[in-house]
Amino acid sequence: MTTQRKRILTGDRPTGKLHLGHYVGSMKNRVALQDEYECYFIIADLHTLTTRPEKEHVTGLAQNIYDVVLDYLAVGIDPERSTIFLQSAVRETFELAQLFGNLVTLPRLSRLPSIKDMARAANMDDETVPFGLIGYPVLQAADILLPRAHLVPVGKDNEAHVEITREIARRFNRLYDAEVFPIPDVMIGEVPTLIGTDGQAKMSKSLGNAIMLSDDAKAVEEKVRGMYTDPNRVRADIPGRVEGNPVFIYHDAFNPNVEEVNDLKERYLLGKVGDVEVKRKLARAINAFLDPIRERRATYEAQPGLVEEVLVEGTRKMQAEARITLDLVYDAMGMAGARLRRALESATPFLLK
Ligand code: ATP
Ligand code: MG
Repeated sequence: MTTQRKRILTGDRPTGKLHLGHYVGSMKNRVALQDEYECYFIIADLHTLTTRPEKEHVTGLAQNIYDVVLDYLAVGIDPERSTIFLQSAVRETFELAQLFGNLVTLPRLSRLPSIKDMARAANMDDETVPFGLIGYPVLQAADILLPRAHLVPVGKDNEAHVEITREIARRFNRLYDAEVFPIPDVMIGEVPTLIGTDGQAKMSKSLGNAIMLSDDAKAVEEKVRGMYTDPNRVRADIPGRVEGNPVFIYHDAFNPNVEEVNDLKERYLLGKVGDVEVKRKLARAINAFLDPIRERRATYEAQPGLVEEVLVEGTRKMQAEARITLDLVYDAMGMAGARLRRALESATPFLLK
């Protein structure tokens, strides 16, 4: 059966377990769009090497990869409908990234605030930043365009990277006068960037301000109890600020009981509710949101070898699709090396002219 559905590519670096920010930024859209789109979800292990190439780190990625696949399954990504694959197991990723490096300028990449932020977070400056980190968005363009994706659901911080992908796709199609790549659209989540429990702009594991999708009920209660609220509100009878207040941002994102949320907001503004009640109700809502995720996780965890099987099958499928794309790419470019390789693979003669 041939499918006419458009394609999605998105994913995560295997830097550890996923959190609520990942969910509202991207995963919620992924789960919802599984039927409408043919979905490819990448575990981008090569991207983690851009800041952490050390041997211990590379070998340690295996556990993280396992955790991310399990998180995917737990939130409801269905391996029967969607393809989950490991980036470094698809050789065509390396090839395409190498070719794409010629289609974007160094200043365009170096100026991206996200790359500067990542460099700074890894204690790198202009002199020590590796070529690989500057090329992060080029590698991402290879990920997105390898399955010739039309749509990329990501958090707000990734928008500028998808713009680079669009530029590369346009440039490729124009240079080689071919329509190999769609120009992919970005889709930002309902909460473009989820604030951290400490009030910092972004929930991030490395900042230690995250509620993980795998946290148990007690951990959630503790994290919510310690959450940053309105710093000026030293007593419950002082009117508080709702706007920009993490507890209410989370209530809006995770508490489906709108009446309860509105009542809490009204009383908060008037100084008629304590933080304790607001937080107790928030912890309850987050735990109710996480309960079905916990159940699914337990079901999948109980089946030994299942996570590996999902990754093997998904990677096999992506590999086949990647070969089709690379054939289209090399045909459009008219590259002799690709013809030589094919001739070697099929033991047929090769002619340069
Ligand atoms: P962390 O800093 O916690 O490791 P990250 O930004 O490194 O997270 P990535 O693997 O780079 O995570 O990104 C995975 C996806 O999740 C991206 O689409 C990113 O935009 C999104 N994302 C990550 N954190 C948040 C957040 N706090 N709010 C919304 N989206 C987020
Ligand atoms: Mg990460």
